[in-house]
Amino acid sequence: MERITIKSLIMEFFTNHPNRELKTSTVEDWVSEQYFKAHGKYPSNVSTDINQLHHDGRLINISYRVYKYDPDNDRKVKLHDFSDSVREEIFKRDDYRCVICGLGREAGLGIAADHKIPRSKNGKNTLENGQTLCNQHNNLKKNYSQIETGKRYFIKIYGSAKEKRDVKMMAFCKSVFDAYDKHDMDKQIERPDLD
Ligand SMILES: [Zn+2]
Repeated sequence: MERITIKSLIMEFFTNHPNRELKTSTVEDWVSEQYFKAHGKYPSNVSTDINQLHHDGRLINISYRVYKYDPDNDRKVKLHDFSDSVREEIFKRDDYRCVICGLGREAGLGIAADHKIPRSKNGKNTLENGQTLCNQHNNLKKNYSQIETGKRYFIKIYGSAKEKRDVKMMAFCKSVFDAYDKHDMDKQIERPDLD
C-alpha cells in the first residue's frame, strides 16, 4: 500500500476536485482529518506542503491561499520532471547531499533533483541527467540560467538596434556584453558585436 503522506493527501484532495479554486483552509481541514485517521496524530505544515507543490508546478496559485489543480497542466509538468522513483535514486546515489557544497538532509537542508542538461534543452528525466542540489544552490542555478536568458535577450535587442541604426542602444548592449566577458559569464554564447 502507498504511504499516506501530507503531500499525497493534498494531491488526493485536489485531484478529486479538478479545476476548482480551493482555499488552503478547506484543504487543510480535510487533509488533517485523513492524516489523523491514518497516523493517530495531526500533521504540521499542511500549508507549507501546498506551497511546495505549487513551486513544483503541480498546483496553480490563484490568489492568496487559493489554489487549483489542472489535470492538463499537471500532465505536462509530470512529463517534464523526474518521476518520484528516479528522484529518489538520484538522492540516494548522491547520498542526499548537494553535489556542490556537500550539505544536505543531514545538515537539515532541503534538497532538490536538478537537471544537468536543462529540460528546455531536451535534457532527459533520467538518473544520469540528474544531480542533487541543496535548495540554496538550486536557487543560485536558477539565477545563472536567467542571466543566460538575459544575454540572449540583449543579442536580440542589439540586432534590432543595429537594423534601426540606434547607436545609443548598440553602445549600451556592447557595455552589457563587456560585463558578461569581464565576469566570465556565458562565453559559450557568442556576442554579436565583434565583427
Ligand atoms: Zn549546496
